Order: sequence, then structure tokens, then C-alpha cells
Amino acid sequence: MTVLVTGGAGFIGSHVADALVERGHEVHVLDNLSTGRRRNIPSDAFFFEHDIRSDEASALVAEHQYEYLIHHAAQMDVRRSVEDPSFDADVNIRGLLNLVEAGVENGLRKVVFASTGGAIYGEPNYTPQDLNHQLQPQSPYGVAKLSAEKYLSYYRHQYDLDCVSLRYANVYGPRQNSYGEGGVVAIFARQMLSGEQPVIYGDGEQTRDFVYVGDVVRANLRALDIRGSGVFNVGTSQETSVNTLFRKIRDKAGASVEEKHESPKVGEQRRSVLDVEKTSQALGWTPQTSLDKGLNRTIDWFRRNLRE
Ligand code: NAD
Repeated sequence: MTVLVTGGAGFIGSHVADALVERGHEVHVLDNLSTGRRRNIPSDAFFFEHDIRSDEASALVAEHQYEYLIHHAAQMDVRRSVEDPSFDADVNIRGLLNLVEAGVENGLRKVVFASTGGAIYGEPNYTPQDLNHQLQPQSPYGVAKLSAEKYLSYYRHQYDLDCVSLRYANVYGPRQNSYGEGGVVAIFARQMLSGEQPVIYGDGEQTRDFVYVGDVVRANLRALDIRGSGVFNVGTSQETSVNTLFRKIRDKAGASVEEKHESPKVGEQRRSVLDVEKTSQALGWTPQTSLDKGLNRTIDWFRRNLRE
């Protein structure tokens, strides 16, 4: 079985690609290396350096007649989506359509799509946020991800294409980009290990649901294995404040920095935490990595790869 993994040079996509190679699949990675890195791609995978919006990308899908597409390539900088909604929509909607249009004409059977929980649900009316929670995206990024889910639902009905959208919480783990808009775990870990002073924006009592990348990979494999379609949350249902995260990483990294606060980021969500009951029932998936265990693995990795 050959699987096309877009964004397979990035953080989550490369871990998914590793797991597929390990399971004995032929893995093709499509990535334009805009934020991904060549060294993340498993050595046994085939790599195609194209933009998902390009004619080369659609020709690749047509030529190889992939049956399985795991789609992780994205413009995932929320602030950039606010500054340039057209660019965000171009990559996150048109890029997906470019691949799926070529796919449905050439035998594509299943799409697993990396969606987002936090950015689609918006500020919680109740917690944890389940699939019935109101959808109130606050950014063009969230709007585009939701639109992509809706397009997939269209392809499912029109072409009988199986589509599974996985709404991720805040994913963390080895290889996460810690520059620019990188995840807060990666940023704190790298700064504390390098003796730099991290900044907590606002009072630090804002919360997130941090899910370890290994658990996210297992959810992708389950999504590939099940028959049929669906939308599922992928998180831990555990809420952790940025202050708590800061202290845990400081202890584990052996750093001696004080908590330094600056003004809150404009428009930043206060809380986010996902209910995973339906995921557990339908996919037979539950998160298995505690925050402490996941942070230990992540910090070990950053310690070994500080210069990357
Ligand atoms: P990442 O930046 O490490 O990976 C994205 C990959 O896509 C990169 O390798 C990048 O080079 C590639 N890419 C970007 N634009 C492309 C284009 N136009 N053509 C081809 N390749 C392109 O990010 P990640 O954290 O691994 O995120 C993977 C997916 O998961 C994204 O779709 C993201 O929206 C989603 N997601 C991530 C999180 C999280 O916490 N990291 C949360 C929710 C959803």
C-alpha cells in the first residue's frame, strides 16, 4: 500500500511518515520545505519537493494513482492568516482541492486531514469542547480549516471518498519548530535549555490541551485503518495553564529562570480543551502519554538537538 503524506517534512507529518514506513507501507512525501526540513523525512520514503497548489503536485497524484492521502501540509501561522487571509486560503483550501480533484479522477479512496480543534471551536461555551460545541473560528486559519472539512464532506457525498478529519489540540514533541509561531512547548524548552529567558504573554492562566505527537500518530493510523468517514477530536481532555507548563519545563530542563510576563497577545484564546469520547468509541483511540512523560521525551530531544 502506497500512502501520500503531504507536509511529511514537517513536525507531525514526519512522525506519521516514520510510523507508516515502520508498518511496511511505501511512503511518498510531498512538501515544499517552507517550514519543513529535509532531514525529518524518513530515509526510506520517496520525496517530492513541490507546492501542494502546483501543477506538479496534481500531476504527481494523477501519475501515482494514490489510494491514500494523509494531508498535513498547511499554512499554519495564525497571525499570518490574519495579515493575509488570501494566502492562507490559497494554501489551506485551494492546495487541498488541487490534490483531491486530481485524486478523485485517479482512484483516491481515503483522505486523512489534519484539522484543528482550538482554532475551529474558538473560546469555549463549555469544557471540554465536544463535536457538538458551536463552531466559532476567530481567525482566517480556523475558517479555512473548517472549510476544508466541509469540502471533504462534499467529496465524500459526491464521490464516495472516505474522509477523516482529525481536530488536533496543541500537539507537542520532538522536531517541533521552535521559531516564530512554533508551539509554546518547543519555545520554552529550547529557551530554557539555552539559558534564555522565556516570556509568558498575559497572566499565564490561559489554558491549552497538550497532546503528545506519538498519540497523534496513532490517531492517524487508526483513521487510515477504519472504514468510513468522520470528524474526531484528538486531544487529552486535560487543561494545562501556560504557567504550569512553564514550571514543569523549567524543572525538567534544570533551568533557573523566573517567570517573566508581558502584555497578552491581542485576540489570544483564553481556554481550549477537547473532549475525546467519540474518538475513543469510533477509533478505539485514547491518548496514552501523560504530559510529564511527553515533556521528558521532548526535552531530551531538544537537549540532543539544540542547534537544529
Ligand atoms: P509544520 O509547519 O511542521 O508542518 C507543515 C508542513 O507543510 C511543513 O513541512 C511545510 O514545509 C509544509 N508546507 C507548508 N505549505 C506547503 C505548501 N504550500 N506545499 C507543500 N508543503 C507545504 O507544522 P505541524 O505542526 O507539523 O502541522 C501539521 C498539520 O497539523 C498542519 O495542517 C496544521 O494546521 C495541523 N495542526 C497542527 C497543530 C499543532 O499543534 N502543531 C494543531 C492543530 C492542527
